[in-house]
Amino acid sequence: MSTNTIKQPSIQRLFIQLLQTNRLQHAYLFEGKMGTGKKDMAKYVAKGLFCIEQTGEPCQNCHACNRIETKQHPDVVEVEPDGQSIKIGQIRELKEAFTKSGLESRKKIVIVEDVEKMTNQAANSLLKFLEEPDGDILVILLTTARHRLLPTILSRCQLIHFPQLSKKMQRENLEAAGLSEDRAALLSQLTADTTEALELAENDTLKELIPVVWKWFSFIFKKDGQSFVFVHTDIMPLVKDKKDHMRTLDLLLILLQDILNSQVSEDYAVAYLKHKSAIQKMADSVSIVSLAHMMEHVLTAKKQLESNVAAQGVFEDCTLQLMTIMTDEH
Ligand SMILES: [Zn+2]
Repeated sequence: MSTNTIKQPSIQRLFIQLLQTNRLQHAYLFEGKMGTGKKDMAKYVAKGLFCIEQTGEPCQNCHACNRIETKQHPDVVEVEPDGQSIKIGQIRELKEAFTKSGLESRKKIVIVEDVEKMTNQAANSLLKFLEEPDGDILVILLTTARHRLLPTILSRCQLIHFPQLSKKMQRENLEAAGLSEDRAALLSQLTADTTEALELAENDTLKELIPVVWKWFSFIFKKDGQSFVFVHTDIMPLVKDKKDHMRTLDLLLILLQDILNSQVSEDYAVAYLKHKSAIQKMADSVSIVSLAHMMEHVLTAKKQLESNVAAQGVFEDCTLQLMTIMTDEH
């Protein structure tokens, strides 16, 4: 699933303009956290350059666009760490590939991922590459750790910072990638990384876990003792590892946040969208103090999981604490 046209709209607009006015520099450094769309944007720029349509905005459909998407374009080379580092041999190979004649066009693009993992030798070799712009080469370097780059590299590249996506933008991205409105709403709360969110959307455990957590909390909210048995009968058989255990509590936390936010504003976009009206009713019948208190307990439970306390005990204890808060409420 390709999300490359939607992740960073303002950076995308910038590059469309640069492409249309033929003002691209020779070297860019894309800097930002994981999942902010740096690689997708690098490919987008490459497509913009090579797209048959030549409008500056890649069509995403033509032969050139498709070959770049599938890493088969001979003039677009992607370099990524070989193990822990990017080694000098990789940069040499790259140079050799480019000096060979008979390639499709004069323009060439190099995309280097995790550029902070270059060995010093590789970095020096790349620098020489940047200094002798042999023909028409565009270099796009990607990094999550700008402070680890050599000043000599930094000074030769134009820096483009990729901001983290807002929850709203993340949600729109996920919907544009084909997720339903309620799934996009929930996953955008669970992770800021679009790629991870799309993977999670395919995760069968998570699919089952979402309604299960809803049901669990509904029992707790009604002070229904079934909530304990439910941990044993419905939650534990579903969650396999620590990741699942953490996610269970994350989902509970998101649900509590939804209720809290619904107290503040009625048009707050809840993550548990399916249950929006039920959440609004819950919000009307529980105090903000109790909610804050419950969230604290869930956070404590997460810490217990982190220090390897057995999940079932943690969930049961959490159930007990939350039930007690609900009972004291009236
Ligand atoms: Zn195209």
